[in-house]
Amino acid sequence: MGKPTGFMEYLREVASEVSPLDRIRNWDEFHLPMPDESLQTQGARCMDCGTPFCHTGITLSGMASGCPISNLIPEWNDLVYRGLWEEALDRLHKTNNFPEFTGRVCPAPCEGACVLGITNPPVTIKNIEYSIAEKGWESGWITPTPPTKRTGKTVAIIGSGPAGLSAAAQLNSAGHWVTVYERADRPGGLLMYGIPNMKLDKQKVVSRRLEMLEAEGVTFICNTEVGKDLPAETLLKEFDAVLLCTGSTRPRDLPIEGRNLKGIHFAMDFLTGNTRTVLQGRPTADYISAAGKNVIIIGGGDTGTDCVGTSIRHGCTSVTQLEIMPKPPETRAPSNPWPEYPKVYKLDYGQEEAAAMFGDDPRTYMTTATKFEGDVSGQIKAVHTVQVQWMRDENGRFSPQPISGTEKVIPAQLVLLAMGFLGPEQPLLDSLGLEKDARSNVKATYGAYATSLPGVFAAGDCRRGQSLVVWAINEGREAARECDRYLMGHTDLP
Ligand SMILES: Cc1cc2nc3c(=O)[nH]c(=O)nc-3n(C[C@H](O)[C@H](O)[C@H](O)COP(=O)(O)OP(=O)(O)OC[C@H]3O[C@@H](n4cnc5c(N)ncnc54)[C@H](O)[C@@H]3O)c2cc1C
Ligand code: SF4
Repeated sequence: MGKPTGFMEYLREVASEVSPLDRIRNWDEFHLPMPDESLQTQGARCMDCGTPFCHTGITLSGMASGCPISNLIPEWNDLVYRGLWEEALDRLHKTNNFPEFTGRVCPAPCEGACVLGITNPPVTIKNIEYSIAEKGWESGWITPTPPTKRTGKTVAIIGSGPAGLSAAAQLNSAGHWVTVYERADRPGGLLMYGIPNMKLDKQKVVSRRLEMLEAEGVTFICNTEVGKDLPAETLLKEFDAVLLCTGSTRPRDLPIEGRNLKGIHFAMDFLTGNTRTVLQGRPTADYISAAGKNVIIIGGGDTGTDCVGTSIRHGCTSVTQLEIMPKPPETRAPSNPWPEYPKVYKLDYGQEEAAAMFGDDPRTYMTTATKFEGDVSGQIKAVHTVQVQWMRDENGRFSPQPISGTEKVIPAQLVLLAMGFLGPEQPLLDSLGLEKDARSNVKATYGAYATSLPGVFAAGDCRRGQSLVVWAINEGREAARECDRYLMGHTDLP
C-alpha cells in the first residue's frame, strides 16, 4: 500500500474534459490527460483493502459489481503512487488485453464497489487505468509479443468485437493459428462501428491495437459474413475449433403506427454510417444526417447518449430523448446499496453537450411514443408521445400505463430507435443447429463456453446478451482458455 493516510489527505480528482461547446466542433476524444503527479496522488488514496471489492467482478442485482476482469487494482494503484509505471503496466496486462479500451469506455463498476466509496468519493480507478495504458504506448513498452512456439492447431473466430479480439490475443499467445472473420469492412465490432470516435478514437486507439495483434500473428478476414459469404460448415471442416463472438445485434423495434415512414432509423445504422464517414472523411452511402433536423431519440441509455452527441456534432436543430423509465435518484436508493453498481442520475457526455447547446438535459422520463406522423411525401414530421406510470398488471408484473391528458406532439424530421438489443442474429446459429437459451442467445455455460456442438465455443454478447466491453473481454479470455484446453488437453491460459 502506497500511503496509509492517503485516503484521509487527498480528495478525489478526475481527468478534466474539453468543454462541451468546444468539443462538439469535431470528433476528437475529449478527455484530457491527467498530470503524473495528480495520478500518483490519486493512487495514494487506495486503501489496499483486505477484501478489495473493486477487483472482484460479480453480478449483483443484474449489474456488475467490481471489475469483471479482476484487474489487480490495489496493486497498480500502489505502483503508480510509487512512480513504477512500467511495472503497473505489467500488472494491468496480466488481466486485461486492452486497457486502453476499458480505460476509455468502461462504466467502471470497480469504482461503484470501492470500499472508500462507502464514506467518501471512490478512488479514481478508471483514469489511472487509462493513464497506465497510454504511458505504455507512448513509452514504447507495448510491442508485439508473438508466441515463441506454434502448436499447429487452428482456430476460427467469428466476429471481431472485444470478445473476439481478446480471445484471439489469448489463443495466439498459446501458440495456435487464429483467423478472425468479420463481416464489416474493418475489424473491431462495436469498438469500431458503435461506440463513437469522440469516446474511442478509431485510428489512434482501435487500429493501433489491431495492428499489434496482426504483428503478433492474428489473421483478420473482413467483408466476410460467415453463413452467407462463407458456409459455417467450411470453418468446421478447416479449423480445429471455432469460437462464435457475433455480438447481440438484433435491435428492438417500435412497431407503432407510422413506423415505415422515411426518417426513422435504428441507432446503430445512424452511428455506423457516421463512423464510416468520419473515417473516410466524406459522407458514405449509408450516412444519415441530423443537420438542421429536430431529432427524437427513443431510449435513454448509452446508445441513445451516443446518438445525442453525434446529432449535435452534425448540427441538429434540437434533440429530445424519450426514456420510459423513471429518472434515477441523485444518490443511491436504499434498495441499491454499496457495493452494487450505483443506479443514480448522471449527466453523461451527450446530455452535457445538449444542455450546453440547448439549455437542458434532453431526456424526458416516463414518456413513450405512441405514433409517428408523416407528411405527404411519407417523411416523418412528428412523434406523438404520452407520459406513463409504472403499475402492476394482472400477473403482478410492472408495466407502463399511459396517463391520459399528457399526450403531446413533438416535431421531428429524424427519429432514432435506441431501445436495446434482442440477442444475436439467428440464421448462423440455426445453420449450425446450435442450442439456444430462453433469450435466443447461444447456449453455453458461463465459465465453460462450450456450445451444443463439440469444438464450437461462444463468448461475449452473443452468449450473455447485450452487455459491456469489459464483460466481452472477460468472456473472450475465458473462452480462449477453454478452447485451448479442448485443443491441447490442458491449458496454461488464465
Ligand atoms: C452504440 C453502443 C455504444 C456502446 N458503448 C459502450 C461503452 O461505452 N462501454 C461499454 O462497456 N460498452 C458499450 N457498449 C456495449 C459493448 O460495445 C458490447 O457489449 C461489446 O462490444 C460486445 O462485444 P462482442 O465482442 O460480444 O460483440 P460486438 O462488439 O457486437 O462484435 C460482434 C462482431 O461480430 C460481427 N459478426 C456478427 N455476425 C457475423 C457473421 N456471421 N460473420 C462475420 N462477422 C459477424 C459483427 O459485425 C461485429 O463486428 C455499447 C454498445 C453500443 C451498441
Ligand atoms: S476494466 Fe472497468 S471495472 Fe475493471 S478496473 Fe477498468 S474501469 Fe474498473
